[in-house]
Amino acid sequence: AKENGRNDYHLYSEDIDQQAYHRLTLQHELMKALQNGEFLLHYQPQYDLATGRIVGTEALVRWLHPTRGLVPPGEFIPAAEDSGLIVPLGDWVLEEACRQNKEWQDAGAAPIPVSVNLSVRQFSQRNLIGKIGRVLKATGLDPKCLKLEITESVTMDVERATLFLEQLAELGVGISIDDFGTGYSSFHYLRNFPIGSLKIDRSFVRDIEQDPNDAAIVAAIIAMAHNLRLQVIAEGVETLEQVRFLRSHGCDEMQGYYGSPPLPKAGIESLLFEATSF
Ligand code: C2E
Ligand code: CA
Ligand code: CA
Ligand code: CA
Repeated sequence: AKENGRNDYHLYSEDIDQQAYHRLTLQHELMKALQNGEFLLHYQPQYDLATGRIVGTEALVRWLHPTRGLVPPGEFIPAAEDSGLIVPLGDWVLEEACRQNKEWQDAGAAPIPVSVNLSVRQFSQRNLIGKIGRVLKATGLDPKCLKLEITESVTMDVERATLFLEQLAELGVGISIDDFGTGYSSFHYLRNFPIGSLKIDRSFVRDIEQDPNDAAIVAAIIAMAHNLRLQVIAEGVETLEQVRFLRSHGCDEMQGYYGSPPLPKAGIESLLFEATSF
């Protein structure tokens, strides 16, 4: 459409309308997609840095759109969070990841945890603990074989988070802090919450070879985590040099393209059943 350059306000509000319209359409589409079973999970292996063995997987949701093909989560998770659809979608992810992990174990794969991302919105559901307990019971998965990844943003309400995390820990599921270092990380929380591991955000790992500040930060996070008896996973590891750096600083695990990108079912199965290492 031809726009009048002087009529800025008009232009701006039309733009907002467009965005709102796009959001609504997307939310409607997501709802239908959930009903039609168009979501699926890819799995990215997590490797022990000392042995090179796969010690866990992270479930990452994708949308197999009938015309657009495979849509990455960055394109629909924000809309799902805004609309609240993340709750039923997250329920599906949790159940599917647990079901699949148990199926692999029943087929002879080593019992390793699957990590599931939990959004703030899901975290604030009152019945979350009950839900997780029911899913574990229904699928028969050992609670030790489920890890929940939360971001630092869920720890904003300290009392609530403490209560929830303690109940989760009582269930026996693992808890990781995702994207560590990007939020308003408060060390006080780390000390008091029953957290098992933290994942160093990719943005710190990316330049460890070139940027001495990033290298110092990563080394310090690993040392601090170990002093707090937390396990450390480095995210977004892409090169052998990064692997060497992380290993020399005693980082426990790594996840990233250097090991493997997230894989569809068949791809991850061939790794899990062949006991390969990176
Ligand atoms: P995340 O939890 O930080 O997941 C890691 C993301 O980094 C994944 O992107 C993965 O494909 C990507 N990645 C892994 N290794 C590398 C690497 O070496 N280099 C680079 N450049 N990237 C790497 P993906 O699958 O597109 O997911 C993006 C985000 O979407 C996730 O970030 C997570 O916040 C969200 N997400 C994915 N699945 C779910 C879900 O089931 N529920 C919720 N609430 N969020 C999800
Ligand atoms: Ca994650
Ligand atoms: Ca992450
Ligand atoms: Ca992220």
